[in-house]
Order: sequence, then structure tokens, then C-alpha cells
Amino acid sequence: MTRTTSELALPSPNFRTTPTYETAFENWIRGFVPSVDTKTLIKSKYLIYFLTGDGPFPCYLSSFKILSSALCECGSLGDPDHYLFDCLMTRDHHLKKPSCEAKSLWPKNVMSTAANHEKLVNCFKVSRAICDRLSRM
Ligand SMILES: [Zn+2]
Repeated sequence: MTRTTSELALPSPNFRTTPTYETAFENWIRGFVPSVDTKTLIKSKYLIYFLTGDGPFPCYLSSFKILSSALCECGSLGDPDHYLFDCLMTRDHHLKKPSCEAKSLWPKNVMSTAANHEKLVNCFKVSRAICDRLSRM
């Protein structure tokens, strides 16, 4: 049996009536991965960090009480988006933020260009160092 893309589409997050971090994150990731694609295998743990938010980020680590705050050292929310596109401490490794229309192509573009993947890796190495410093405070 062959399934169509629409059959594999992610379920709607309408089961919640109030916006939460989880629903905001679900909406955010749908911009990059609008539906399940059984032909795509993500081999980079750093891209998985970015797409899931589960990685060396104050936002993630504070949800487990590993860090006391979800904020970066610069005072902004320490999520993957912040480190890859905005934080001054990772500016040497920033990638261009995709437009809403280009988000679904962004993960493949990052993986197909070694220099872009290297920026992603280096950016999250810096975010790990930031988390290490924050954990010692
Ligand atoms: Zn920052």
C-alpha cells in the first residue's frame, strides 16, 4: 500500500485552545518540515538539534531544570533560532534566515552545502559553550 503525502501529514495542533510553548514550537517546526517525508533521512545531529530544539540551548535545558533560565547570556530567549540567526556571540556562524516560503527547502539546502552545515555545527558548539558557562553560574 502506497501512502500519499497528505495521509502522512502531521496532525493539526487544534487540540489545545491556549497557545503554549509546545504549540508555538509545533507551528515553528511545521514551517521547516510541513509533513512527514519517508524518503528523507536526517543524518546530522546538529540539524536534528535545530529542527527539534532538543540540544545545547538554554530554552531546552531549562525545561529539565539543568539551567535555571531559558535566556542566553545576551538576555534573549536561548532557542536554536536565536543562535543560528540572531545572537551576537554566534554571528561568525550565522546562516541567512529563510523566508516563510523558503523554510521547507532550508533543511535540504543546509545539508547540501558543506560550508552551511559547518556553520550550523560551529554555531551549536558555541551554544554548548554558552550553556556550559551558564551551568556554572
Ligand atoms: Zn544570545
